[in-house]
Amino acid sequence: MMAAANVFQNRIGGSWQGAQNGQTFPNYNPATGELLGSFPLSTEADAHAAIAAARAAFEKWRLVPAPKRGEILYRVGELLTRHKEELARIMTQEMGKVLKETRGDVQEGIDMAYYMAGEGRRLFGYSVPVELPNKSGVALRDPVGVVACITPWNFPVAIPTWKMFPALIAGNTIVFKPASDTPHSALRLVELLYEAGLPEGVVNIVFGSGATVGEALISHPDISVISFTGSTESGRHVAMEAAKSLKRVSLEMGGKNAVIVLDDADLDLAVEGILWSAYGTTGQRCTACSRLIVQRDVQDALLGKLVPRIERLRLGNGLDEQVDVGPVINAQQLEQIHAYTEIGKGEGATLVIGGEMVRDGDLARGHFYRPTLFKNVRPGMRIEQEEIFGPTLSVIAVDSFEEAIAVNNNTKYGLSSAIYTQNINRVQRATRDLTTGIIYVNSGTTGAEIQFPFGGTRGTGNGHREAGIAGLDVFTEWKVVYTDYSGKLQKAQIDG
Ligand code: NAD
Repeated sequence: MMAAANVFQNRIGGSWQGAQNGQTFPNYNPATGELLGSFPLSTEADAHAAIAAARAAFEKWRLVPAPKRGEILYRVGELLTRHKEELARIMTQEMGKVLKETRGDVQEGIDMAYYMAGEGRRLFGYSVPVELPNKSGVALRDPVGVVACITPWNFPVAIPTWKMFPALIAGNTIVFKPASDTPHSALRLVELLYEAGLPEGVVNIVFGSGATVGEALISHPDISVISFTGSTESGRHVAMEAAKSLKRVSLEMGGKNAVIVLDDADLDLAVEGILWSAYGTTGQRCTACSRLIVQRDVQDALLGKLVPRIERLRLGNGLDEQVDVGPVINAQQLEQIHAYTEIGKGEGATLVIGGEMVRDGDLARGHFYRPTLFKNVRPGMRIEQEEIFGPTLSVIAVDSFEEAIAVNNNTKYGLSSAIYTQNINRVQRATRDLTTGIIYVNSGTTGAEIQFPFGGTRGTGNGHREAGIAGLDVFTEWKVVYTDYSGKLQKAQIDG
């Protein structure tokens, strides 16, 4: 919502409004440095107003029949489809990834809208036989209350929809705090929700920092659920803070994902998967492949095919359809990625390609980093263990299938793994022994579909999953109703 040219506002209850103290923060294009607009630098008071609006709306929204809530989500799906190109362009401009990827990001939101709209006529509970005569029992899903959705910048539409759509279909209301690097995508999503007919106050959006708005949400007694996606460091803090008031918390956090290439793999196929997983979204996906675990006897052949392809990746503004790799999100992230290049060199890994910021031509105005590959990386090195969140791939040579599995599993994260092999026995053993939440056989580490549970083990999550049926669990409370129609006192486990 534009109050004046490129000045955007919070949506609290039925109205658009600036921060109560009038402050704003700028939104920049990471490819060009251009100023795109300004958003409210909200305060604790703004967050509290949004919580109050969501709390008030909850009492009506929970009573709207779920199929009717579903009809609104269905219309959201239609609106997202109609505005797909517009949203993709907004997203590319504010966070850099190339258009074909931002279109895919919106498509995930469309898929989730239709999927959760359908849940409006399911939301399955269950009934099972009871042990006493003339009595019934049924287990139902109830909404939990007001949900805080706290999201990162790398999937600015998809991730919010993974949280908001299941929360809404179940009858919860929402305070949404998007990442400060991607406020415009978030705002357009909320505008479309209201255009689809969402009642006032059901979704509230408050822009601002994690330290102020985020903290105000996670510590407030009227927030019943926190659905957080972001770094493991922030997620741990959210969980600790929420524990004080026993809030329900779902965390989706970092990754250190690997592609394993065994000696019998189709190397050409593996090259395509590695390029897409390691350098797509400029390596800034939670599922990005940042480790390549390869059997030593095929390492040279694989790198012989892979490195020239990395060299040919075209860097540039993601709005240009010819570009393969966009900028990284901001100057701080650029510095961090480069710091890891220095760390890798210091640890004795061999820099094969990349390893530098782009300082020439038009690209000098943006935050560009050359796609980077290290070899001679050993298990335990920091570049092998820590999430870099950039276009940096570490190659680790191993001598056996067993060693590949062990190296894959030995990190503090556990989101996704991929394995390339033509051997059915190795496929079966790998799917049994890899300990990540998602496994890909003969494709890269990215490519989740919304009808399956999404999430990871160890430091990637706290046991919850988003998407699919499992995605409803965090937003619903089981309620069991026993009805005794015997007309007398019957005692379970005692009578009969
Ligand atoms: P981040 O942790 O810096 O921020 C995420 C969100 O949390 C932002 O909205 C931020 O403002 C908010 N936040 C920060 N501190 C907070 C606090 N103290 N209280 C409340 N909220 C706070 O993460 P980021 O840099 O935006 O995103 C990148 C990270 O997200 C990476 O680690 C990546 O792996 C992870 N990620 C995970 C998944 C997944 O599904 N597992 C998906 C995408 C991204």
